[in-house]
Amino acid sequence: YDAKHRGDPVAVYAAESDHNSAERLSLLADLRRVLETGADDAGEIALYYQPQIAIATGEVVGVEALLRWRHPRRGMVDPEELIRVAEQSAVMRLLTRRVVDDVVEQLAKWSAAGLDLRAAVNVSVRDLHTGEIADQIAERLAQYGVPPSRIQLEMTEGALMADPRRVLATISRLDRIGVAIALDDFGTGYSSMQHLRRLPLAEVKVDRSFVLGMVADADDAAIVRSVIELAGALGLRVVAEGVEDERTWRLLHDAGCEVAQGWFFARPMPAEDLVTWLARYRPISPATRSGAGDSG
Ligand code: C2E
Ligand code: MG
Ligand code: MG
Ligand code: MG
Repeated sequence: YDAKHRGDPVAVYAAESDHNSAERLSLLADLRRVLETGADDAGEIALYYQPQIAIATGEVVGVEALLRWRHPRRGMVDPEELIRVAEQSAVMRLLTRRVVDDVVEQLAKWSAAGLDLRAAVNVSVRDLHTGEIADQIAERLAQYGVPPSRIQLEMTEGALMADPRRVLATISRLDRIGVAIALDDFGTGYSSMQHLRRLPLAEVKVDRSFVLGMVADADDAAIVRSVIELAGALGLRVVAEGVEDERTWRLLHDAGCEVAQGWFFARPMPAEDLVTWLARYRPISPATRSGAGDSG
């Protein structure tokens, strides 16, 4: 891959179709194998971390943990594809377990090194249908002495629709533990206003498809602005993902968006690289960088 992709390898494997069940089963079998305790010596599964930036000050407010699986034969597996396949099986539980364990352990390591970061973890439908994940998180946080405020969960609206009652029970429990919940990919799902009103949410993430289109497409920009306004009115923090350039960053700033995440700042990267990145990072804000990119 080219230099731009360093630290965030492009997925090369995506199963041709969901209908190809032999492929799917083989991928699942491999995943199950690598998730067995002590089976991932090669470190096939890793979490990459992408910084989230407060737009007004340029300060790093947290990171999102993103799953990467470098399959020995298939190469880098597309995370979305992987989750779609895993979600249909019991392997998803193991995968989420691994992700949560790794993130909490990483938070403890960073903390010991003087870095008090907050990490967001993506969870999927199956994970929220039982309270197990709340127990697991509480257990791990206690084990590593990490405060609940250091971890946040991101869920999509699709996860909600499957079984709203049970999902609500789980996220209410997480909320009581002190683990904040973000509604991810907002605008792509059912976007029911009920979700925003009824759930103990802390944050809404505007889907990157709208953010990516902001500069070129007035409708996308209008959608992003209204999500920002709606979230603000409901007292929710709003994060824009997929911020790839300076103009989008400025538009978001003008629209009152609080937090941005995207390639304009940094790609998702391994934990070690994040430490280096943070050490080199100088906060940038639209105010301190006046006009620089308005020409481009
Ligand atoms: P997501 O949670 O919405 O994550 C944001 C995605 O946007 C990530 O894709 C990230 O790499 C990508 N991204 C970040 N900045 C930019 C940008 O400026 N431009 C563009 N074009 N893309 C950007 P990624 O890493 O491929 O993950 C895809 C999806 O897979 C995630 O979407 C999430 O739904 C799912 N996922 C990833 N890791 C996990 C995990 O550990 N557990 C679960 N359940 N799902 C995960
Ligand atoms: Mg996410
Ligand atoms: Mg998202
Ligand atoms: Mg997504």
